[in-house]
Amino acid sequence: MTTLLLKPLATNRIQNGHVCIQKDDLVNDRALKEGEDVTLVSGKTKAFIGKAITGFQHKGIGWVYTTKQHETFNEAFVVNVFQQAFHKRQAMNLQTTAYRLFNGESDGIGGVTIDWYNDSAVFSWYSAGIYRYQEMIINAFLKSCLQQPRSIFEKLRFQNAPCETQWVYGDSDDKRVIIENGIHYATYLNDGLMTGIFLDQRDVRHYLLQNSRGQSVLNTFSYTAAFSLASACGNASQTTSVDVAKRSIEKSTEHFALNNVAVDDAHKFYVMDVFDYFKYAQKKALTFDWVILDPPSFARTKKRTFSVLKNYGELLADAIKVTKMNGRIVVSTNASNFTKEMVETMIQTTFQNMRKAFIIEQYFTQAQDFTTHPNEAQTAYLKVFIVKVVAN
Ligand code: SAH
Repeated sequence: MTTLLLKPLATNRIQNGHVCIQKDDLVNDRALKEGEDVTLVSGKTKAFIGKAITGFQHKGIGWVYTTKQHETFNEAFVVNVFQQAFHKRQAMNLQTTAYRLFNGESDGIGGVTIDWYNDSAVFSWYSAGIYRYQEMIINAFLKSCLQQPRSIFEKLRFQNAPCETQWVYGDSDDKRVIIENGIHYATYLNDGLMTGIFLDQRDVRHYLLQNSRGQSVLNTFSYTAAFSLASACGNASQTTSVDVAKRSIEKSTEHFALNNVAVDDAHKFYVMDVFDYFKYAQKKALTFDWVILDPPSFARTKKRTFSVLKNYGELLADAIKVTKMNGRIVVSTNASNFTKEMVETMIQTTFQNMRKAFIIEQYFTQAQDFTTHPNEAQTAYLKVFIVKVVAN
């Protein structure tokens, strides 16, 4: 086993419960390999600090898995970690057949997550390092899961991965209709990196379901229109979904059909750049009770590049222009470098510049099955503000 010497600050950090290791934490900057099981010792005292698996992600170069000298990264260890995570989910009242079973570093092993869809599992691997343990980890999963999976699929979310998605176990049929708070969503577990639903936004969908009666809803960056569907099921008077991807329409109409919501004049879908839609809406003087903003952290279309850090203010300004007085804007981002405080400041500045007033009515982070790590602030990555536009 390789031994890595830690600088004093890193030694303290890990002793204080942090689990992410940065390149800069190491005394000897020797070339590290992916997937090494390393022992961490204090560079100063040579005292044992912990053990980690190396794996290169934008977050760091590896994850501590134990601070106990007798523990090793083997199947029995992983079974134990998984069992704890699975029991935690059992105690949650999630109101869904699809949820996160295991959330990487927040549940004890960095670089891998497991989502459960009805009867099947989807693994996501975030580094080539942890992926070297794929077979052992999947075996540990099969030994510890509370219900034997019908299928397992996996997403390879690291650089130079051989593919994005693949079937690894059981039945290869990948369609699952999940039920969340009484609403049906069609998911495809082996179709690119995304499945058709973002499970972490469950609480926001539920909020829309409960608060959209009689309201008009504009859902931008709508993807499969999950937010529109939740609003429609909550008796919204109308929904408008806008996404630049062509296939969003068939996925969105499939969602409405699945729930017997007629796609008539009340529910519209546009394949369009969101910024162009805002121009169109202004020209036609369209206004909405709800405007939902949930952009990707970074996106490049033919016309423009969008980054939440640089352009969220412009997006919010456009949204304010088409929101009715006393209407609400959902300001959502999952970018970990765009902190809660930064989003709040952006909201304040944008409203100030437009000489408009607002109140923050609600705040959501990810659903509770997307557990967070008490010492790693960036694990609470989802920030969703419900902003009400009020009179000055
Ligand atoms: N809000 C969705 C998830 C959005 S995923 C949900 O909760 O399910 C991001 C979506 O933004 C993708 O479907 C992508 O096609 C779309 N997108 C990216 N840039 C866009 C743009 N400039 N205009 C419209 N849609 C865009």
